[in-house]
Amino acid sequence: MKGKVSRTLMEPTAARDSVVMAACAAASAVADPAMADRDKAARLMECLGVVSAAFLIGTAPTLREFRRLLHEPLIRLMPTGVDPGPVGDLVLVDETGRLCDEAEDICREHVVPVAGLAERWPVARLRAEQEEWRLYRALRSLGQGGYVRARELLVDLPAGELRVLRHAWDDLWPRFGDYAPVSDLGRVQVDGWWFPCPACRWPMRAEPAAGGVWRVACEAHAARGIAYTTSPADWPGRPVLAAAGRHAGKVEGQPATADHLAVSRPVWRYVTLPGAMEADLRDHARRLGADVSMWPNLDEFDLHIQLGRNVWRIDAKAWASPVALAHALLAGEPPDQHLEIVIPDHQRPACAAINDMLAGRRMTARTLSGMKRLLDRAAREAR
Ligand SMILES: [Zn+2]
Repeated sequence: MKGKVSRTLMEPTAARDSVVMAACAAASAVADPAMADRDKAARLMECLGVVSAAFLIGTAPTLREFRRLLHEPLIRLMPTGVDPGPVGDLVLVDETGRLCDEAEDICREHVVPVAGLAERWPVARLRAEQEEWRLYRALRSLGQGGYVRARELLVDLPAGELRVLRHAWDDLWPRFGDYAPVSDLGRVQVDGWWFPCPACRWPMRAEPAAGGVWRVACEAHAARGIAYTTSPADWPGRPVLAAAGRHAGKVEGQPATADHLAVSRPVWRYVTLPGAMEADLRDHARRLGADVSMWPNLDEFDLHIQLGRNVWRIDAKAWASPVALAHALLAGEPPDQHLEIVIPDHQRPACAAINDMLAGRRMTARTLSGMKRLLDRAAREAR
């Protein structure tokens, strides 16, 4: 009997999802300066219980090891034989005790039904693709014209002043996007001011750094060099940002008052971010003389591009975890015709793994730059 129990191991995908989600939930507690130590210990025990279920009896980490491993690459927390994919390199809590930028979305994308845990991690109530599906179903009820208009507004105005938003959305306000006061997002304010990312326009995350200075960076675009620090010399008053990354363009602080609103995190992650890639591809293709339509037939897919004899059907995806994305794509029906899945450039190392997983499903993953190169080549050949 004993031997039988010790051989029982979860299916590898389920094991990976449980460990990733429980580790993210534990890391968020460890990194939360407002949480009492007793509550942190209780959360860690609960998360360790979830992690342990993925291990053979007697091989799970102890509480002390679990706590230490949250500061190391996630792969070290995986049971033998379970491949975490690219999230394996992720360090959830850095040396300054800060939660890594993508932890919340990674957790959402790996959510598994575990009693208790999901409630304590409020953003993880639904799997990411269910959230996406709920919003798109509501948008589709607008018909093609309204659908395209609403999608464009969620991309162009993911945050701003109520007056501006109401004017732009007009009769559709406030039905879509789950806009809420910027201050509700937490961790985006410096002395009552917030800062829109120059790439996606959503509020950037603000974290206290050493010496009374704040680090302000976009969670999705910090890897592209959109990161700042505040200059203490300008206090008090509106904090001024100094570039700390290669692509940190000028940004003005906005007051984080009740009438400054932003779309919810899932809308930003699964609509605004891919929408920015879609608009970039659309503009690139049009410059090459291609025929482009956005979200044809109520979003059967995102973009239809025709250039000479070539036709592409494209979906853009900006998930924090490319492997979770591949699993979500595998869970659905394969498309009727070939579909290009375009992902952000910084996820290039994950492309081959995604394509291995999607083999035979009429889908090819490419980076945004890779897709543009394909269009450039087709344009040269068409001349
Ligand atoms: Zn951004």
